[in-house]
Amino acid sequence: MGTHIENLKKLVGEVYDLNAASSVLAWDQQVLMPPGGAEGRAAQLATLSSLAHTKFTSNELGEALDAAQGETDKLDADSDEARLVSVVRREYEKQRKVTAEWVAEYSRATSLAHQTWQKAKAESDFGSFAPKLKEIFQLRRDYADFFKPYDHVYDPLLDDFEPGMKAADVQAIFDDLRTHQVALVQAIADAGPPDDSMLHLHYPEADQWAFGEEVVRQFGYDFDRGRQDKSAHPFTTSFGIDDVRITTRFLEDYLPSALFATLHEAGHAMYEQGVKPELARTPLADGSSLAIHESQSRLWENLVGRSWPFWVRFYGRLQEVFPSQLGQVSLDDFYHAVNKVEPSLIRVEADEATYNLHIMLRFELEKALMEDNLPVDDLPTIWNDKMQEYLGITPPDDAKGVLQDVHWSAGLVGYFPTYALGNLVACQWWELIGDAIPDLEKQIEAGQFDELLAWLRTNIHQHGRKFKPTELIERITGEGLSAEPYLRYLRTKFGEIYGLS
Ligand code: ZN
Repeated sequence: MGTHIENLKKLVGEVYDLNAASSVLAWDQQVLMPPGGAEGRAAQLATLSSLAHTKFTSNELGEALDAAQGETDKLDADSDEARLVSVVRREYEKQRKVTAEWVAEYSRATSLAHQTWQKAKAESDFGSFAPKLKEIFQLRRDYADFFKPYDHVYDPLLDDFEPGMKAADVQAIFDDLRTHQVALVQAIADAGPPDDSMLHLHYPEADQWAFGEEVVRQFGYDFDRGRQDKSAHPFTTSFGIDDVRITTRFLEDYLPSALFATLHEAGHAMYEQGVKPELARTPLADGSSLAIHESQSRLWENLVGRSWPFWVRFYGRLQEVFPSQLGQVSLDDFYHAVNKVEPSLIRVEADEATYNLHIMLRFELEKALMEDNLPVDDLPTIWNDKMQEYLGITPPDDAKGVLQDVHWSAGLVGYFPTYALGNLVACQWWELIGDAIPDLEKQIEAGQFDELLAWLRTNIHQHGRKFKPTELIERITGEGLSAEPYLRYLRTKFGEIYGLS
């Protein structure tokens, strides 16, 4: 291999190390750190991220990149080296366009906005948060302007999470999906919810923990290269492909919360554990995009973990762990309970069928805010109107409405669509997997997940971040991103559960 490529790898490897060290500190902050450590930790994280940024955007790295490109231009465009150079080039050019003044201003504004949002949410007072939100969206428009010309002011933001994807692509997909999904949710609501009272009994934390780990071990999450801890909000973090950790949280009076969070995070973690070793310690040792990442977590959480064959396998075991709570509950009743669909106010608690409607609402609002077509002061009213239109319910206050999510206060605009896209992509994979592994359901009933995991490893995981999301989807499915498999999945599954014709 050329010496210039080796030199580039050395430089990006050092940046990778700095970022991994930041991740360790951030993991510690959420899992172990005492509250008193907050101020010192913020300083440590700021120092590390500024070092990483300076190093990554340096002239030295730019020169190394040019030299390495001289070598990779002679290689196959899909080789690891050529892809490394193109991914680093993309990131390098993006980061160099943003001024240091903007970064400092954005960091100051978001940290203040976050505090204001917490207080506003606690007091359900949107008015006190509105000025900060105006400032954030102005800063976000300024950010987009670094990347002019663009088709839409939303595009540069979306591109940070879904490289290559445009607002118009998301809009087209959502427009296609919305009426179908609203109609389906309405039909389900008319059929009435199943009884899920058995899920709200007392379930001791230690037993929940043991059962969840038993399941993800069988999925193939490697505990020699990972571990699970507790945190306020479940997440996955990677310090390298051989140390990918998950966290969960336990509600002793609601069984599904920790279990499905564990399956979800293990899905993310197995993706990162499956990146091929050749890509370690480079920017390619990562997921293709947030939507592709979410396609992995949702696949294990919902398509596997909320499926009938899965519970045929695991329900007896769960009854053994919780005999007094579930001993008298049939498999059928339990399966219906964990698949309960009910329009609700809070996105993070939404079920499989209603979840995307929450996302579409946010996407439409943040797109209009970016266009400067929606006065921030009108946001609560429009939020509530859309909730009524899509889900048939109206939030009683701003805390359960427009103030519920942390994202905008943190400056994360363009992030929400990736959740919904992940659901769609997961179903695209699922149809292909069904063709490739005809007895998949039998395998799941037998607790065998190795062929499923091998398919994901071969087609998706091993490539890490080599391919952009749309490119990866096309390589694997031969088509573009589509909502059809997702709609087929919802209609089949919930049609059966709710007896819809
Ligand atoms: Zn996730």
